[in-house]
Amino acid sequence: MNILVLNCGSSSLKYQLINMDDESVIAKGLVERIGIEGSILTHKPTGKDKYVVETPMKDHNIAVKLVLDALVDPEHGVIKSTDEIGAVGHRVLHAGEAYKESCLVTEDVKRVIKECFDLGPLHNPANLIGIEAVEAAMPGKKNIAVWDTAFGGTMEPKAYLYAIPREYYEKYHVRRYGFHGTSHMFVSGETIKFAGLNKDNAKVIVCHLGNGASISASIGGKCVDTSMGLTPLEGLIMGTRSGDLDPAILEYLCNHENMTISEMLNVLNKKSGILGMSGISSDFRDLIAEVDKGNQIAKDTLDAYAYRVAKYIGSYVAAMNGVDAIAFTAGVGENNARIRKMILSYFNYLGIEVDDAANEAAVGETKMISTADSKVKVVVLPTNEELAIARDTLALVK
Ligand code: ADP
Repeated sequence: MNILVLNCGSSSLKYQLINMDDESVIAKGLVERIGIEGSILTHKPTGKDKYVVETPMKDHNIAVKLVLDALVDPEHGVIKSTDEIGAVGHRVLHAGEAYKESCLVTEDVKRVIKECFDLGPLHNPANLIGIEAVEAAMPGKKNIAVWDTAFGGTMEPKAYLYAIPREYYEKYHVRRYGFHGTSHMFVSGETIKFAGLNKDNAKVIVCHLGNGASISASIGGKCVDTSMGLTPLEGLIMGTRSGDLDPAILEYLCNHENMTISEMLNVLNKKSGILGMSGISSDFRDLIAEVDKGNQIAKDTLDAYAYRVAKYIGSYVAAMNGVDAIAFTAGVGENNARIRKMILSYFNYLGIEVDDAANEAAVGETKMISTADSKVKVVVLPTNEELAIARDTLALVK
């Protein structure tokens, strides 16, 4: 069966058509600038040339229609008709506490997506528009919602409650949810398989280190704790997000800089992280280039980044009373041996031994980077959220 995976952002749409018989990608692509001038669809059919469509797209309905047209196009397409699409899996950001597993889209699912608009203001509205666009373009086709918050649904209250008055949890569901859930689920599951661990009780820490970054602890593939919170702002230092900080800083800076809370949150989301700390870039490659030129601020930034990841790993070892494997994924985690080594250098006491040659060689591929004697297995494992969404979708429509 072919599964179409859709990931709608406020002005973008990413898609993949996956043949689930062998999990191969038949076509993938990206629509950008939906609703703004310069809308563009870049369609990449496997084994054929790239196909680019530049035409005004005033909304996601038109974008979805153009994607389906590209998929069935006689020259650039990969299927004869949309009948060859078995179901559509949608990445949906936030389910609040309502859904803790992927599910068939129903009226209740759409109600929940809407109710969570204020928890995921950039993504949930776009996710709903994407679902409704598919419903309009392919009536009767099964749509599956795969929630980014679902993985965190197995956390216990001790991990998800904030130490604020209980009424805020009860009235407004203010708690830790966690994000990048599909990635953490995929990578923790694949790590267990790759490292030959016990699928029911293996203790795994996944470091998803991309532009956005988060870390999770799971036992037997079930999330015990994760670093992002009510929103993706909490936790690790990221490309442009601050991660953890003293909440009193908000008022202090708002007063001094004469900013509103939402202006300050914009700073914490878009102008902080390694970009704000270094004043150089949100891209780790630029930061490292400056470290190598002897820039002390860049070095302090990189050190703080690795230190924060290491502190979280240490706390998750405590949370699980041990760890069997640590996995690195996403842009930095998959590609940068130096940052992995910096992080792992904090864990000699755990008996972690890095195989330096394997670490250097691991670029964008699944690889064991710990030695045979290491007490904890360390792996690099590329994330594949689209495949995880397609697998969940298939399981629900089979
Ligand atoms: P996201 O999905 O969060 O946008 P990605 O997982 O694609 O992010 O990661 C993008 C980030 O990965 C970039 O900001 C870049 O800094 C970093 N990155 C990619 N390749 C490397 C590399 N070789 N070394 C260091 N960082 C890298």
